[in-house]
Amino acid sequence: SANLMEAIVSLAKRRGFVFQSSEIYGGYNGFFDFGPLGIELKKNIRDCWWDDMVRRRDDIVGIETSIIMHPKVWQASGHVDGFTDPLVDCKTSKQRYRADQLFFAAVVVDGTTHGYVSALESEDTAGELQTAAEKVKRKQALQGTLAPVEVIEFTEATPEQIPLIPSPATGEPGSLTPPRAFNMMFETNVGALRDGSSVSYLRPETAQGMFVDFKNVVDTGRVKLPFGIAQIGKSFRNEITPRNFIFRSREFEQMEMEYFIHEDADWETAHKEWIQWCWDWLVSIGLPESHLSLFDHEKAKLAFYSRGTTDIMFKYPFGVQELWGIAARGNYDLNQHAKASGKPQEIFDEDSKKKFVPHVIEPAVGVDRIFLAVLAAAYAEEEVTDDKGKTETRTVLRLSPRIAPVKVAVLPLLKNKEVLTTRAKALYKKLQRRFAVFYDEAGAIGRRYRRQDEIGTPWCVTIDFDTIEKEGDTFTLRERDSMAQRRVTEAELFALLDEHVY
Ligand code: ATP
Repeated sequence: SANLMEAIVSLAKRRGFVFQSSEIYGGYNGFFDFGPLGIELKKNIRDCWWDDMVRRRDDIVGIETSIIMHPKVWQASGHVDGFTDPLVDCKTSKQRYRADQLFFAAVVVDGTTHGYVSALESEDTAGELQTAAEKVKRKQALQGTLAPVEVIEFTEATPEQIPLIPSPATGEPGSLTPPRAFNMMFETNVGALRDGSSVSYLRPETAQGMFVDFKNVVDTGRVKLPFGIAQIGKSFRNEITPRNFIFRSREFEQMEMEYFIHEDADWETAHKEWIQWCWDWLVSIGLPESHLSLFDHEKAKLAFYSRGTTDIMFKYPFGVQELWGIAARGNYDLNQHAKASGKPQEIFDEDSKKKFVPHVIEPAVGVDRIFLAVLAAAYAEEEVTDDKGKTETRTVLRLSPRIAPVKVAVLPLLKNKEVLTTRAKALYKKLQRRFAVFYDEAGAIGRRYRRQDEIGTPWCVTIDFDTIEKEGDTFTLRERDSMAQRRVTEAELFALLDEHVY
């Protein structure tokens, strides 16, 4: 799976999906650029979400709020005081770690602790720790003993435990500082003055925009409980250890929705319904259910206002990790803004004839995490035999037609036969008005199919001599996953696209 990750990163770069930001300057840790195919894939993920979440529902409206909001928003929301991760410094290497992602283990032989080992968050944590433990055992000259090394794993070290843990960078115990709270919001200054009074923040989530505009939407949007407000946009977090490609970055894109419900409504049912909706949506864009699971946060570890949070987890190549968080937040946020702004955030509910501050269910997901999940699930290398009996490896991205960057490639069989290219270009122009389509006349047809396989194009249509010479104006339709070929008319091609691309 380390190989799978390498293969995805390499394909992403080679075919223009994702580049390192500022690459000619050596890159910039935690920032990424999306290339010509990447931005198509990303746009399709966004558009599918927006269509299903907003346009195709009667109870949800969309908004777009500013990235920099009044700093009072972030005081009221609790982010200025509490949006922190526990930071640990290595005094020797100057590396920084998140204490809750630093795994450490006691090496126990015959019931006696002989030392500690550490590892960073990774699928291989257990293996890494075991290897490190064996080293400790040798170092302690315990080769003679038959007793197995027992590795007792911990994470989220307490301040007292930190000095015992060897730094993952140097292996030396005693070089880690006690954990301290590190605020993840990026600060900037607004206006000409650069003093404390001008400090402002890049938003670390889009959600507060929905709470702050709640009254505006209620007063203008003709909405009635229960209803939702959705937004897609960039968020920024100064992550201590950005890692795993685009999984954890410092600038990323979120798709969030606040679903407001009656204060007396059965929030648990609403919460469950949204978990199911999110799960089904992920499946609709092609994520296999075998890679999805649910994780319920322990009640004791939740923020005090939160009633329940369930994450939809995805089996990434580096381990099972959070993809989509679905939180029941009560009416904490609206109350906070009412208190801080002095503007009541109540709603009058016609049905119950009551005035109250509604409660909210919040599904929050990252576009980049979906992007990485679909690449990981879609990537395959397989042995194929060509018509001359030669076997080769083909790389194929089995992307759902809903999100594939190119839906169909139009290929004239030969480049230098004008009858073929003229017919192909006419089809290309017609398809282009409705779908992302690619025209390619260069090289052997087999090569051209492989190029499309690698970027996940579900269908290729080839314009050949039968198209011109035989009756019916049919093309060869070649299907990506099965590589099966059949003849179709233009009308059949459009019908196929209509059915699968929505
Ligand atoms: P984590 O525990 O992984 O840091 P989180 O619980 O802080 O994530 P939320 O605050 O719930 O994440 O954010 C909602 C969603 O935004 C996440 O489920 C994830 O998809 C996305 N997200 C959060 N942080 C990042 C990041 N640094 N890079 C990319 N996506 C992110």
